[in-house]
Amino acid sequence: MEDLKNTHLDNFNIIIDCGHGGINSKGVYTTAPNKMHTFSDGEVIYEGVINRQIGKRVFEFLEELGYCPVYVVHPDDSRDLPLKRRVNYINSFDPKNSIGVSFHSNASPGHNARGHEIWTSVGETRSDILATYIGEEIIDEFPEIRFRPDFSDWDLDKESQFYILRKTLCPFVLLELLFFDNKKDAELLKSPNYQKRVAWRITNGIIRYLKTLR
Ligand SMILES: [Zn+2]
Repeated sequence: MEDLKNTHLDNFNIIIDCGHGGINSKGVYTTAPNKMHTFSDGEVIYEGVINRQIGKRVFEFLEELGYCPVYVVHPDDSRDLPLKRRVNYINSFDPKNSIGVSFHSNASPGHNARGHEIWTSVGETRSDILATYIGEEIIDEFPEIRFRPDFSDWDLDKESQFYILRKTLCPFVLLELLFFDNKKDAELLKSPNYQKRVAWRITNGIIRYLKTLR
């Protein structure tokens, strides 16, 4: 724990972007009917709510260790900000003094896919180093869970969704943590134990990257 504490980076921005919307004061999911899933037993899961819960844990771990995380949208703010506004905000920070992580969970047409994915922009950049460290931590923590790596055979459909990766100027990765529309993955995503473990490992991956600076 001690060796993870921030000792050398003053005012370095770690931008936490929790994808999609949350539940507003009226109890309404602001991204409905998208980015949510209703299982056959009636249980409903909201991707944006899970993204906020895990992003918040990472934020808090980083803060405890003396780093400077910043939210694009605070987890208590249910708004689903358009991507362009998210990107403009992220790019308002000095790219040389910032990194960013976007929190998402995946879905598949048959609701049967499972596993973790990490995405970066096309081509080799500093983002790949950040993605590698976070990926290694996640694989080490969850060896039993399939890890779907970001290979060079880029799927164009997927890329078109990832405006945020193409437009952000600082090193930036997008995490797809499990598949929220798969029953087994959804159970994990909702569990405080999974959330804490994955958030801690993401924090460790971020810090490993930060240790390479200066
Ligand atoms: Zn998403």
